[in-house]
Amino acid sequence: MKKADIVTFFDRLAAQLPEPKGELEYVNPFTLLVAVALSAQATDVSVNKATGPLFKIVDTPEKMLALGEVKLRDYIKTIGLFNTKAKNVIALSELLIERHGGEVPRDRAALEALPGVGRKTANVVLNIAFGEPTIAVDTHIFRVSNRTRLAPGKTPLAVELALEKKVPKDRKLHAHHWLILHGRYVCLARKPRCFNCVVADLCGYRDKTPPPDAEVAAPARQRSKGKSASPRASRARAAK
Ligand code: SF4
Repeated sequence: MKKADIVTFFDRLAAQLPEPKGELEYVNPFTLLVAVALSAQATDVSVNKATGPLFKIVDTPEKMLALGEVKLRDYIKTIGLFNTKAKNVIALSELLIERHGGEVPRDRAALEALPGVGRKTANVVLNIAFGEPTIAVDTHIFRVSNRTRLAPGKTPLAVELALEKKVPKDRKLHAHHWLILHGRYVCLARKPRCFNCVVADLCGYRDKTPPPDAEVAAPARQRSKGKSASPRASRARAAK
């Protein structure tokens, strides 16, 4: 994608959602770290269901250790890989106390040294908790970056490094959320909603999805309400 098109690409995503937010619920950097660690191979919705009651009583590493692994497992048993994740959360809580005075470090290497915390989790925590312009490449960002030709790459790391270079500086802080939400609600894995996408004219995907018959046949009055789907609008539709 050309540089000028990339600028327009992010201008349009920003116009739809000027202050994008992630969908994982948390109350402080520690609970964010735990929520992101629990979200590996699980949906944000399933994590939020489990962590809602958990974070009401546990919001520090000390309280997590006091709760203990067995009780923690009970809170998160609806999340995939909960046994391993419970072990990791207890172990990372111990390390946070031992090495960082119970605080979440604002440092990639220190974060990645925690059990169950990889580059993606560290990037999310650095971005959301500390406002660093990092871009965590998940399955949605990987797909959108390749499909659109915004920042193609064979691995998540290659895509992350390509995004680092290509995303305009003033868009880096929110790029992670814009791309995730675009992938989650518009540029869907199986059937992207190209007919309702604000960046369709900039996107390099060749097999764009045509409008479904229902959309084509919809009364002009309805269609004129909005040519493009915002993540917020798509979420509202999905909730109906
Ligand atoms: S046009 Fe289609 S493939 Fe391209 S970004 Fe939009 S939804 Fe995704």
